[in-house]
Amino acid sequence: MTTILRLLLASTLIALPGCIGSARIAAKPYDVIVVGAGLSGLTVAKDLMRNNRRVLVLEATNRIGGRAHTIAGFSIPVDVGAAWLHGADTNPLTAIVDWMGFRRIPTDLDGPVFFGDHRLNEREMREYGEAYEATERGLARAHADRPASEFLPVASRYRALIASDIGPLESGAEIERTSSADAAAFQSDPDDFVKEGIGTWVQKFGRGVPVELATPVTGIRYGTEGDGGVLIETATGKTYRGRRVVVTVSTGVLAARRIAFRPELPQEKWAAIHGLPMGLLNKVVFQFDSDVLAAEGGNAWVLHQRTGTSGHPEVMAFVIKPLGASMVVGFYGAEQARRFEQLPDSHAIDYAKIALRAMYGANVVAHIDDARTRVTRWGKNPWTLGSYSAALPDASKMHAELGKPVGDRVFFAGEACGPPEFNGSLAAAYVAGLQASRQVQASLLAADAARERDRHPERQP
Ligand SMILES: Cc1cc2nc3c(=O)[nH]c(=O)nc-3n(C[C@H](O)[C@H](O)[C@H](O)COP(=O)(O)OP(=O)(O)OC[C@H]3O[C@@H](n4cnc5c(N)ncnc54)[C@H](O)[C@@H]3O)c2cc1C
Repeated sequence: MTTILRLLLASTLIALPGCIGSARIAAKPYDVIVVGAGLSGLTVAKDLMRNNRRVLVLEATNRIGGRAHTIAGFSIPVDVGAAWLHGADTNPLTAIVDWMGFRRIPTDLDGPVFFGDHRLNEREMREYGEAYEATERGLARAHADRPASEFLPVASRYRALIASDIGPLESGAEIERTSSADAAAFQSDPDDFVKEGIGTWVQKFGRGVPVELATPVTGIRYGTEGDGGVLIETATGKTYRGRRVVVTVSTGVLAARRIAFRPELPQEKWAAIHGLPMGLLNKVVFQFDSDVLAAEGGNAWVLHQRTGTSGHPEVMAFVIKPLGASMVVGFYGAEQARRFEQLPDSHAIDYAKIALRAMYGANVVAHIDDARTRVTRWGKNPWTLGSYSAALPDASKMHAELGKPVGDRVFFAGEACGPPEFNGSLAAAYVAGLQASRQVQASLLAADAARERDRHPERQP
């Protein structure tokens, strides 16, 4: 971790006054209005408040946390969005999670692999591992940002498995539409769970930040207001004035033009938004009524490959016994996820059950508590319109482009603005939040200094 990142990290740990939903609306404009109360927006707000800036966060939904959301109703807290602290050894959030007293649980990324009902034996697992490592070496050596599919082993029986793991199950996009630069840079392993739920942690992280909930932003006017600041329009009819605005919504929400910018955003910004479309990863959560997987190790990432109705291989992933609970969480991404989102939940559930039956037997499936099964639909969520950004080939550079301010008034954060090594993750959201906060502070300080010079020309050196 760089020294600057360490300093930023330490500064964000400081507790701040205020409370959710009770922001006082003063006649004086806010220094900064933040759009979105996910981890990125909360990070921006905390860092600016620590620097004595007047901040208000506007959030469309009735909770903070965005795509980090822990739900109850199972034998453990379940994360329906983000779940892992990826690359825990180099993840800037690890220290904060620990410092706040949350418990990290290591996970096993090298769990069993099944082809139908065949569990790969030791030799096959070694072959699979070698093919995977060769792919990763190819990605790391690439001189250009190409489709990650170009680095797959050509004649390997594990090709579809590796393609799915790097594509739909990691980037949420088909591997042909996944940037090789981002796939190579992404820091994963060791990956940890948070026992209380990572969404619970984000909620606590955001305590003390003034947030107006249920306030979708519909328009941002910038630079043309009387005081040269920003005017924020919302679906509630209420408007807010600020000196600067930080937009942290997903590229899905931006691309859908849920927020009208006046003047229109420049072409380069739209190119960045379109270069970082939303990938889609969904989950199906199963609770068993007894400990039917007693023989299996917990927290393992298990892959299952089958032949689909089209005759092509299809891959789904599972976390078996998360936190040791008698549960399974299934994962499917990209085209498969888009297809299931068009259908009733029963289709994804039945599809996952077929894999579970092949892997662990009909008796295990018979012990699923159907009433508690839960299927996510992040693509249909109007406030995310997907799971996380997935840079297209040759678009890894767009993360930095998206993070550039427009007209020194509109600033951008959110996971898509984060660096490729944290590709689409919570760590990217956090780092992007700190970057935006520092940009805004520099901008406000420069404006304050200019105002002082105008007021007191006699004081100039
Ligand atoms: C299924 C899934 C699995 C994932 N797994 C992991 C994982 O294991 N590890 C990991 O690190 N990351 C994971 N991620 C990614 C991680 O959740 C995100 O990178 C991170 O939460 C993004 O934070 P953010 O603040 O950038 O955006 P968000 O959390 O989306 O926050 C943006 C906020 O803006 C709000 N908003 C949207 N539109 C408006 C509007 N018009 N007006 C006002 N507010 C608005 C939204 O409601 C939201 O609260 C996963 C995501 C999903 C969906």
